[in-house]
Amino acid sequence: MRMPGRLGARLRALTGDRVRMAAGAVLFASALCTAALLAGAGGNAAQAFFPLPKATVQGMEPSATPAPGPLSGLIIAVDAGHGGYDGGAVGRVSGTPEKTLNLDVALRTARLLAAQGAQVVLTRTGDYALCDEDPPIRRKLQDMQRRAAIIMGGEADVVLSIHMNEYAGRSESGPQIFYREGCPAGRLLAGAVQGAMIDVLRPGTKRSALGGDYYILTLGVPSALVECGFLSNREEEALLLTGDYRQRVAQAIAEGVLRWAALPGERPAALAAVDRGGEN
Ligand SMILES: [Zn+2]
Repeated sequence: MRMPGRLGARLRALTGDRVRMAAGAVLFASALCTAALLAGAGGNAAQAFFPLPKATVQGMEPSATPAPGPLSGLIIAVDAGHGGYDGGAVGRVSGTPEKTLNLDVALRTARLLAAQGAQVVLTRTGDYALCDEDPPIRRKLQDMQRRAAIIMGGEADVVLSIHMNEYAGRSESGPQIFYREGCPAGRLLAGAVQGAMIDVLRPGTKRSALGGDYYILTLGVPSALVECGFLSNREEEALLLTGDYRQRVAQAIAEGVLRWAALPGERPAALAAVDRGGEN
């Protein structure tokens, strides 16, 4: 996204506006967690700032003014997938909705990125979708468009969308990262995050980052959709239900971003945003 964004980020950094929490919603149709894409609920467009509401912090200490670090000057949007009426994938054993775990991992990731100097924009900070309940039509599109508006309004340089996977077969496991096909910067980002998740989490199945056509990846910014693990796999579900493992997941995601940001040379340009205003 635009050059002024980086300069703007640095200027904002000087003003202490480091970590922005926005309530809203973005979208996606992840192939494997699409089942829950189409239902709708409460809109919430307020913006919140650190410190996070205690209810959503879950034991993590907020840091209002992150120290300068390797990610200083970067604005990173962290999108917790689903929310509200849209629970996403469901834990096969526990019945835990993906939306809850996504938010927890997103908040942990946001904290870690902020600790490395990044300014973080969150698309949601609680259990809600970013759409109006009435009329209940086109809720998912509205939710996605509002998430996109938060991300673009925040002049994000990078987008990370956090999800949990599911699949009909129970044996599938392991983190899976997606990027927008044809976006070199997104591919590098996704590859770095995928590699870090393998190194940190040591999953039994070592996947490669894949191209995918997801709305959240089409905003013209280097983007990665992070499927943290499979809720359809008994063992991985059990891991994802523990705070310790979710913290490791967040650490892996942050490590991936650090690796990406440290890549030598100019980062490939992102593709232009895709106009999807007419989608439903
Ligand atoms: Zn999902």
